[in-house]
Parts: sequence; C-alpha cells; structure tokens
Amino acid sequence: MMTVTYPEQWDLDTLFPGGSESRELRLHMDEAVNKLSEFEAHVQKFEVLTTKEDAPKVADLLEQMSHVMRHLSQAGSFIGCLMAQNTQDKKAGILESEASTLSARFQNSFQKIQQDLVKTEDGIWNELLNEESLRKFTFVLNEWRDEAKMLLSEKEEGLITALSIDGYHSWGQLYDMLVGEINVTVTVDGEEKSLSVGQANNLSSHKDAAVRKESYQKLEEAWTEKEEFFAKTLNSIGGFRLETYKKRGWDNPLQEPLHINRMKQETLDAMWGAISKNKQPFVDYLNQKGKLLGKDGLDWYDVDAPVTESTQQFSYQEGAEFILKQFGKFGPELEQFAQQAFENGWIEAEDRPNKRPGGFCTSLPLGEESRIFMTYSGSMSNVATLAHELGHAFHSFALRPVHALNRSYAMNVAETASTFAEMIVADAAVKNAKSNEEKIALLEDKVQRSVAFFMNIHSRFLFETRFYEERKNGVVPAARLNELMEQAQTEGFAGGLASTHPHFWASKLHFYITQVPFYNFPYTFGYLFSLSVYAKALEEGDSFEGKYMALLRDTAVMSAEDLAMKHLGEDITQQAFWEKGIALCVQDAKEFISLTSTEA
Ligand SMILES: [Zn+2]
Repeated sequence: MMTVTYPEQWDLDTLFPGGSESRELRLHMDEAVNKLSEFEAHVQKFEVLTTKEDAPKVADLLEQMSHVMRHLSQAGSFIGCLMAQNTQDKKAGILESEASTLSARFQNSFQKIQQDLVKTEDGIWNELLNEESLRKFTFVLNEWRDEAKMLLSEKEEGLITALSIDGYHSWGQLYDMLVGEINVTVTVDGEEKSLSVGQANNLSSHKDAAVRKESYQKLEEAWTEKEEFFAKTLNSIGGFRLETYKKRGWDNPLQEPLHINRMKQETLDAMWGAISKNKQPFVDYLNQKGKLLGKDGLDWYDVDAPVTESTQQFSYQEGAEFILKQFGKFGPELEQFAQQAFENGWIEAEDRPNKRPGGFCTSLPLGEESRIFMTYSGSMSNVATLAHELGHAFHSFALRPVHALNRSYAMNVAETASTFAEMIVADAAVKNAKSNEEKIALLEDKVQRSVAFFMNIHSRFLFETRFYEERKNGVVPAARLNELMEQAQTEGFAGGLASTHPHFWASKLHFYITQVPFYNFPYTFGYLFSLSVYAKALEEGDSFEGKYMALLRDTAVMSAEDLAMKHLGEDITQQAFWEKGIALCVQDAKEFISLTSTEA
C-alpha cells in the first residue's frame, strides 16, 4: 500500500557538504567575515539623513544589510543543525562561537544605524518613507527609529550594554550553574537514582504516583535549601532591569515586552480578562482528573500525571502519511509543501543517541529552505510535534515573496502557523481514535495544553508582575517570593489545585532569561491567536488557505492588532475575540469530563 518511503534523516550535505569539516562552509564563513567588514565600513560612513534625495543611500544600505543578515543566518542555522544532530561534534561548537561573534558585530552596526535614523528630522523622515525605494520598509524603519527614540544616548546605552555583560547576563548564567549543581535521589521502579533537575522534572508524568510525589518533594527540598541564592539572582536581574527602565524613563515593566511583541496593553488585558472569566470548566477538569487518580483534589505534582495508557503507535511513514492526509484536507499548498519537505530530506526524525532533546525548525534563507529537527519514537504526540515544526517551516515558505527585512516576526505570532498545523493533526487524531481510551488520552493532551496556557502561564505572569511592583521598593526576600508564587498559583488555577508549588519561581528557567523579559504571555497569545485562525478556517473551508498565507506574509510588518483586524476582521483589544478561541478549548474539557464520567 505504501508507495514512498520518506527518509528519517535530514540531508545537510545539499547545503554544505561534509558537516563541520566542510570546506564550502569554511569558505562561506570567510566570505561572511568579508561581507560583514564591508558593511561595517559602510555603516561608519553613513550619516544623518537631511533630504529625501538620501532615499537611494538608505535603500542601498538596507540591501547590503539584508545580504549580510542572510549570509550570517545561513551559517548560523546550519551550525545549529550540526550541534543538534550530534552533541559530541566539537568542531561545530567552535564554529558556533565564531558565528555568534559575527552576529554580535552585526548587532553593533545595526544599533549605529538606529541611532543615525533617530537623528533625522521628522519632516524629512516622512518624505523619505514616501519614496518608492523605501515605502515597503515603512513598518520596520519606523520601528527601528521608535526603538532608538525610547533609548538613552548612544554613549549611555553603550555603557549599559557593556556593564550588562557582568552585571546582568552573568546572573542568568549563574542561575544555570546553580541549577546544574543540583542532584536529587529518587526511587524509580524500586531503584534509587541520582537525577539532574531536568531528569527529575521529567518524572512529573510518570505513571507511578509515588514517583511523581517523591521527585517533586526532593526538588522542592533542593530549591528550599538554595532559596537565598535564587532569590538573590532573581532580585539582581529584576533590579538591573528596573534601574535601566528608570533611567530611560519607562515606568511600566511591561513596556519592553509589549513593544517586543508589537502589541498593546489593552490587548493583553483583554486576553487575560477573557481567560479569567472562563476558568471554571478547567477547574472542573482538574477536579475530574483528581477523581480519576483516586484523590480528593488534584495536587501540583499530579497535574501532568497520565490518566490512561495510550498505546497507539505510528511508524514514521504512517505518521507522515497521516499528516499529509490531514494537511490536504485544509489546502493543497500546505500538503504539497509538507510532501516536498518529507521527500527532500528536510526532516531529522531518527531515534538515536547523541541527539539534542526537543524539536525545532530553522530556516536557511539563501536557498529558501528549512530544516526540522526532532526525535520520533512513534507516539501521537510525536506526530503532533512533527506537524508543529512543519507549520513553522510553512510560515517561512509563505514569507518567500517578502523582502528579508520584512520577515522578523515576534514571539507572540511566531507560534501561529505551528500551533495551527498541530491543531489540524490533533483534532483529526481525536476524531480517528480507535477506542474510547485512546480518545480520552488524545483529548487530555489537548486540555493539558489549555491548562498550561490559561492557568500555569497566567500564574507566572501574575507572579512576575507583582514581583516587579514589590522590587521597585527594594529586595524581595525568598519567603515573600514563595508567598507571591502561591498566591499567583491559587489565582491562576482559580483555586483548582489541592496544593501549590511555592518554589516554582526558583525552578522555572524562564524567569531568569535575561535576553527576553516576561517570557510567558506571548505563549498564551500565540496559542489563542492561532486557535481563532483555526476557528476561522473551519468556518470558511477550502477557500481559506489563500487568506491564511496572506496573514502569514504580514506577520512581521504590522502590529498584532492591525494583523488581526486586516486578516480576521477582529478587534483583539476586546475580550469577545479571545473568548471564541477559549470556547473551543472549553469544549475539549467538557468532552473529557463526559467521556471519563461514563467510563467510571
Ligand atoms: Zn514552535
């Protein structure tokens, strides 16, 4: 029956033959250095714009800039693939640090351009943007200029950047070191095991309740023992941020994350408002899950517990066929795109040692290709992950006609195409489930995601917001952080849990990422935004694919509000928009409850 066999290993040789020893890659890197040096020289000579006749000069610089960017990201993505496919590849590690030095140099030149743009007088600026050669860059150019306006002088910002290496980012690195030092002993299947934090965390979905509880308690003890170190680290990161914001005259800690995600405060408020109003069905789900586990109320450490044993397995070929079939029902472009990704060796899925954990999709702009990385072991959730990554690749495919400078979409819309593709497959899987038990397991997978985005991430957001408020008045001690965390969880889960996780603030890496503040709400945004695109697709049927691709093409050239208005006709500053997506998730929770009630 099966006619084609899709390769389970990706083909990197068509990009640069020979892996980390590749001569072609070496030549490419050397060329990148030359191109970058020329660009730097050009930027140094670049001057403040004084007339609209300067437009061709700007256009020239932008072309050169995008050329260098594409060159660097081609190398960066390829090296990333090498690192992921073999964590023992030392040569790839050396290439990686070489590539990151080049990106830092590029970043410096980019900042210099921003500072020059901001010095341009407003009238001239608007005339420039009206010139044919620059019109298509209006959004990004304005954004670069606005960013620069929000900052202090070139000299002051330079000082902050220089001091932040040891005074800010190193706190984030210290966090990684502290966590890396932790080992806990847990009894798994009658055997005592010494585990890293990551390994112990993975036991949260272990089928044995005693294992889940013990690993949680041992970790909680470890966080407690070192809580003062974590509190010091968190306070230092928060303190540095707040002090920088104060100097720049920003009084709202959300200003920066909202700007990065090109969205308004009203939008964020509407999203959380709609979620807060609709938590009851998920509380009911948590209670039901507690019952299924034979408990009165669900504890924190049982949230990820499996309630059924999902046994359905899919070979890689079957998984691929399933994805293609479901994509085909949505639209021919998505199906054909995925087909060629499977056929042309864009996907690394083989289950073998020395691969990095997790999955990703990376784009290689020079040949307009992508590569997908994951480890496929045959579960339905692997199939969903594969669809997810193909969704990311399809986003890059949709952006092909767009200029390279108009492709930098933000984190909140980055997950639109991926979640959308995943949804197509996850929904079909529920419909095609062969038994009730299978169906329950697949539905649970979906509801768990809603619980994570609506409850867990909401509690992280509440915690972080309140932490910043208190941090403005001084250092927040560990004991108070525990209190804030427990309050945030009680509120985030709407009282749906029998116990909370007071040291969650210490355990979650996301609070310590210095590059991106508030590494939480964009996830929830992306999930719900793509759900509403999905709802629209169900409504419109076949004709939707063209509109969908048009939406993806615009993801990096307008605000989130404008994107939704233009392509969905929706006002995302209103709760009504968010409630539509939530309603789909509520259905899943209700169906889960009804299926598991009749079972019992
Ligand atoms: Zn993703």
